[in-house]
Amino acid sequence: MALGIRHRLLISHLFAVIVVAGTFGTVVYWVAAEQVARVGELNTLRLYAALAFCVCVLAALMLARHLAGRFLARITDLTARCRALASGESLPPRKPGPRDEFDNLGREFDAMAGRLRHSAQDRERAHAAVREANAKLESRVRERTAELEAATAQLRKEIENRVHVETLLAEAAMTDGLTGLLNRRAMLEMLEQASAQLRPGQAGLCVIIADVDHFKRINDAHGHDVGDRVLVAVATRLRELAGEQQHVSRWGGEEFLVLLPDLRMAAACQRAEAIRRDVERTHVGGGDLGVTISLGVAELNAGEKLDDCLRRCDQALYRAKESGRNAVVVAQGAKFATIS
Ligand code: GH3
Ligand code: MG
Ligand code: MG
Repeated sequence: MALGIRHRLLISHLFAVIVVAGTFGTVVYWVAAEQVARVGELNTLRLYAALAFCVCVLAALMLARHLAGRFLARITDLTARCRALASGESLPPRKPGPRDEFDNLGREFDAMAGRLRHSAQDRERAHAAVREANAKLESRVRERTAELEAATAQLRKEIENRVHVETLLAEAAMTDGLTGLLNRRAMLEMLEQASAQLRPGQAGLCVIIADVDHFKRINDAHGHDVGDRVLVAVATRLRELAGEQQHVSRWGGEEFLVLLPDLRMAAACQRAEAIRRDVERTHVGGGDLGVTISLGVAELNAGEKLDDCLRRCDQALYRAKESGRNAVVVAQGAKFATIS
């Protein structure tokens, strides 16, 4: 087991005591031996020797205790300084003492503690600077991210608005403002696409051109607004009666073109006649204003020019007008037949 410094000091001082006591006892012995030689008393000699030994042991013990106490006080002080340094507390004030090795050790320790403390403070300052820089950087990154997100949201909104406006414009470019039907340009595009898809040997497509009879009279008799309402009412009936796969357009002032891509001629004529009858029964605005329409029907076959088909359909319509109006005429090649 390792001995503590207290015990080492005590042992070393006990050796000192033994040496001192031995030396002192020897001196006393010689002095006493002379005395005995003169007086002849051995017991007195023994008493002197024992007394001298006890005094020496006592003196040595007191000396050892005093010295050990002084060393221990310095070491305890050093231990307290180490503990304060380790726990980051300020060092306790130095106790005054003689300038010996302990004092030197204490001074060197204080100097080292000061240097350590300074470097720890420097490190802490550097850490604080890094933390501050990091915090600033993060806050800037957050700000920039927020700005970027806001700009992105704004851009997305603008793009959505633009797309919406473009959709509206595209719709408006294709739509008749009064009736909401496709306009002539949109219908022409549709007709050209449909005619381009026709293949020889396959079924063609049919078109109907409908024209309001004596519409000028309606305008003149009831006013332009009523004329407009008539156009809207006829357009609504056409849209409802044309069928799901069909496309209805406002072809001109009071003319409408219906594209029937999936109907053969016979079915197209029946559809035209059904429309004519329905419009005949229509009373605009719930009043007694009766409206009739005349219709021309024609078929477009693969390889035939679209313009030729439209011209034949126009001629059929013209013949319907000539036959007294409120009629359906179909163009069959160069011939025309009245349906009703
Ligand atoms: P028909 O039976 O031969 O077709 O005779 P119509 O009077 O219907 O034909 P006409 O071509 O003589 O007259 C067409 C009229 O339609 C002339 C024009 O002022 C009118 N019109 C054209 N577009 C509109 C419109 O958008 N609104 C109104 N209210 N009238 C229109
Ligand atoms: Mg007309
Ligand atoms: Mg007309």
